Amino acid sequence: MVIQNLILGEQMNKRYLIKLKSAIVLSMLFFASFASAAEVNIYSARKEDLIKPILEKFTQHSGIEVNLITGKADALLQRLISEGRNSPADIIITTDAGRLYRAKNANILQTIQSDILESSIPEQYRDPDGYWFGLTLRARPIVYSFDRVKPEQLSTYEALSDVKWKNKICVRSSDNIYNQSLVASLLSHAGEEETYKWTNSFVKNFARPPQGGDRDQIKAVAAGQCDVTLVNNYYLGKMLTSKNEVEVEAANKVKIFWPNQNDRGAHVNISGAAISSSSKNRTEAIKLLEFLVSDEAQQWYAEKNLEYPIKPGIQPSETLQIWGEFRADSLNLNKLGELNAEAVMVMDRAGWK
Ligand code: FE
Repeated sequence: MVIQNLILGEQMNKRYLIKLKSAIVLSMLFFASFASAAEVNIYSARKEDLIKPILEKFTQHSGIEVNLITGKADALLQRLISEGRNSPADIIITTDAGRLYRAKNANILQTIQSDILESSIPEQYRDPDGYWFGLTLRARPIVYSFDRVKPEQLSTYEALSDVKWKNKICVRSSDNIYNQSLVASLLSHAGEEETYKWTNSFVKNFARPPQGGDRDQIKAVAAGQCDVTLVNNYYLGKMLTSKNEVEVEAANKVKIFWPNQNDRGAHVNISGAAISSSSKNRTEAIKLLEFLVSDEAQQWYAEKNLEYPIKPGIQPSETLQIWGEFRADSLNLNKLGELNAEAVMVMDRAGWK
């Protein structure tokens, strides 16, 4: 098991390009130096400690060596695009179906045909053409202050556009793909006009200009800056199980509300994987993806990331079980990618900064 950790900046400026070029050369040398027995090279947006132990298990089971490069999701995709056919990467592991759709459209992925992947991953959580596959499921529920909000006051994402929530909502910026994917799901269900109306009224209810990540929204609700937010479930999970007392205290001041349970269900997304079009170790790469949907890997990987297993029948971790079962939107997640550009336009028009 070999790890190289490169944190790449997200801005495409000159310095970044130089950095990127040297990173590419480095990664080629890095992987070349291990070209011997059966192996597979991974670019992972998942942090090393959230994936390394399961990759070691894979090596134990299969005898296939795994070389890992970790970095930020958008930077890794950009890197794969820049490297093109010379990329040493076999597998890309990243988050959000919207991103995997971008990778597919950038022609850096190849299709896979695998009965194991197809029977383990529900249809809506993989690409219809076989370019990418979900590995874990994350939900984006409503999180609220249980001091100031009663769950009976909550119902759907759409209802958060009601004027009664004026100055009560905190949410991160529209640059972030999580909100773009949520808006894309609304577009898919309700069309552009309805979604624009919703987004426009929702934005008017913001207690402050969008800022920070999902954890910062939870902290803002806990601190009384707003009453309600939208966050990916694992951020709350990580805060609840954090070693940092301030995070635990904030997380204990909020609760999860599962929206749209009487209609289409709560918005969900995935972390997933794909095989690069440049892959020179396709057979080994498919074996690794198949291993990641085995019961053992699903249990560990979902628990470690505080996400939901993608494979039906595998229990979520105890932390997640406290939030109860919920109905998830059954939308095919490819739609989130297809509608991403329209979602960004709607958010822009509505003034979601
Ligand atoms: Fe995240």
